[in-house]
Amino acid sequence: MFDALVRFVREQYRTEDFIPLHAPVFKGQESGYVQETIASTFVSSVGAFVDRFEKDAAAYTGAARAVATVNGTAALHAALLLAGVQRDELVITQALTFVATCNAIAYCGAQPVFVDVDRHTLGMSPASLEAWLQAHARLDADGNCRSKDGDRRIAACLPMHTFGHPADLDGLVSVCERWNLPLVEDAAESLGSLYRGKHTGSFGLLGTLSFNGNKIITTGGGGMILTNEALGARAKHLTTTAKRPHPFEYVHDEVGFNYRLPNLNAALGCAQLEQLEHFIASKRELASRYAAHLEGSELIFVQEPEHCRSNYWLNAVICPSREQRDFLLQVSNAADVMTRPIWQLMCDLPAYAHCPRDGLEQSRWLADRIVNLPSSVLPEHLS
Ligand SMILES: *Cc1c(COP(=O)(O)O)cnc(C)c1O
Repeated sequence: MFDALVRFVREQYRTEDFIPLHAPVFKGQESGYVQETIASTFVSSVGAFVDRFEKDAAAYTGAARAVATVNGTAALHAALLLAGVQRDELVITQALTFVATCNAIAYCGAQPVFVDVDRHTLGMSPASLEAWLQAHARLDADGNCRSKDGDRRIAACLPMHTFGHPADLDGLVSVCERWNLPLVEDAAESLGSLYRGKHTGSFGLLGTLSFNGNKIITTGGGGMILTNEALGARAKHLTTTAKRPHPFEYVHDEVGFNYRLPNLNAALGCAQLEQLEHFIASKRELASRYAAHLEGSELIFVQEPEHCRSNYWLNAVICPSREQRDFLLQVSNAADVMTRPIWQLMCDLPAYAHCPRDGLEQSRWLADRIVNLPSSVLPEHLS
C-alpha cells in the first residue's frame, strides 16, 4: 500500500533521486532582478524593489496596505503589537500550528491560549473558540474581553490557515466581533488561498505572510504584514526603527524594530510573485492526482474546505492510526521520498506547557495521524 504511494510520487516527479517535501523554483526574472539591485548598489534597507513588492502583494491579496518584513515571525510579532497586544495579556490561538505563531505571542510578553481546530479545515474551530470564551471570558464595562479567573485582558485571536487550507473565517469573524477581539490571521502558509473568493489574511485587522525558503514563494527569508491604511503606516514606522522623516537628523519617536526586508530579497520576491498563479495551478493539479490515487484507500487526502480555493502548499494525508503514520513515515523516508509528520502540539512543548487550553480533542487526533507528502511544483510545469 505505502509502496504504491512511494511509486506514485516518483512517477509524478519522474526521478529516482531524493524527492524533497517542497523545493523552491526560480524560473522567472529572479536572476535579472537580483542583478539589478547589485548593479544599483541598493541591496539593503532602501530600494525600488521593496516598494514594488509591497504594492504587488497588496494588489494580489486585495489588502489596502502590505508592509514587507525580514521574516514571517517578525511580521507576526509586529502585527500583534499593532493589534494592541501587551505584556501579561492573553492571545487565543491553536495548538496545532508551527512554533512561530506562539513565539510571536511570547515576544510580546503575552501568553497563548490554545483552542481546538476543526477536523475538516485543520484551522481554529469557531465553536471551540466560542465555547472557551463562554466558559472563561467576560466583557468588562469598557468592552474589553477579559479572563474570568485572573482578570487578564484577552487581547487578540490568532488563527492559522494550515498547509494553505483556509480556516472557517465566517465563523471566526463572527465570534471575534461578538467578543470584541481583534482578529489577526497567520496566513504564512496560505498565500494565494481564497475564502469565498477573498484572500486569506485580509479578513482580520491584520494578516501576515511568510516567504521562507519552504513556502509557496520565497525571498530567501521574508514576510509581509497585510492591513488597512492607518495600521499599514504604523507597521512601516514600527518595522523601520520608528524613524521620523527628516532631511538629516536621526529622530526615532518610540522603540522600533529593524524588521524591514532588504531590497535584495524583495527583488527575488517580485520575480516569485509573478509566477505564483502558475505554481498554484501546478500544485492544485498535483493535489487532484493525489486525491484520485488515494480514493478508496485507508489514507484520507486532505481537500480544500467548502467555498475555498486552497493553494495546496503542502499536501497532507490522515492515516488510520499513529502506528500507520509512523509506518508511512518510515517506508517513504527510507525510499528517499521525503515525508514529515505534522508539528507536535504547542502545549506539548516545554515553553508552552503551562498555557491555558481546552480539551484539544481534534488537534490531538490530527497530530497523531497527519503526514505531509512531497508538494513541489511538477516537473512538466517547470519551464
Ligand atoms: C513559516 C511560518 C511562519 C513564519 O515563519 P518565518 O520562517 O519566520 O518566515 C509563521 N507561522 C507559520 C504557521 C508558518 O508556517
